[in-house]
Amino acid sequence: ENFKELGVRKDFLKGLDDMNIVKPTEIQSRVIPILLSGDADLIGQAQTGTGKTAAFGLPMLHRINTHHKVVQGLILCPTRELGQQIAKQLFKFTKFSEQIFTEAVYGGAPIDKQIAALRRPTHIIVATPGRLIDLVKKKAVDLSHVCTVVLDEADEMLSMGFKKELDEILTYTASAQNKWLFSATMPQGIRQMVNQHLASNAHRIE
Ligand code: AMP
Repeated sequence: ENFKELGVRKDFLKGLDDMNIVKPTEIQSRVIPILLSGDADLIGQAQTGTGKTAAFGLPMLHRINTHHKVVQGLILCPTRELGQQIAKQLFKFTKFSEQIFTEAVYGGAPIDKQIAALRRPTHIIVATPGRLIDLVKKKAVDLSHVCTVVLDEADEMLSMGFKKELDEILTYTASAQNKWLFSATMPQGIRQMVNQHLASNAHRIE
């Protein structure tokens, strides 16, 4: 099995090939066809290092209308390091594509630079929850056109105390057609968030 058979677009196949990514991991094989087949919510139980980023990143990239210069994809993650890694992978997947602009924003760094960066056309934001809220409050980010929201390492975000921020962000993006939550574990706090914010017919992958 390869990425072409999973339905991945030709320009992204070139990017994957350039990264020497040829054989899908298990989570990629299971998740990509579902997420490419139409709008849907998904709950994926997956550990780090299993290829999650491509599993949600490629289907998110498929949905970006490059001519529409508004934020269409939002990826929430627990740390600056993970956010930068995700943004870097998305950039590489799109090496042979029409430009898709991704910006990573996170706490612990000057907010003014991030506000300036977000004034440029941005299709996808990768963010830690607290900093994203700050940017929304300062009107530096408009989430009203977001159609795909990813929560990556959701259990880690809860452990770090981001529950309130996540609930708030998910109310801003309540009308998004696609909400994809990934977590290594599914404690009560995660199950509650799933019940509150994801569709009851969400796909479940474990
Ligand atoms: P992730 O779990 O998404 O953070 O990916 C971990 C690392 O594995 C990253 O460096 C990816 O570029 C790489 N990777 C992702 N998918 C594959 C694959 N199918 N084959 C080989 N490497 C991969």
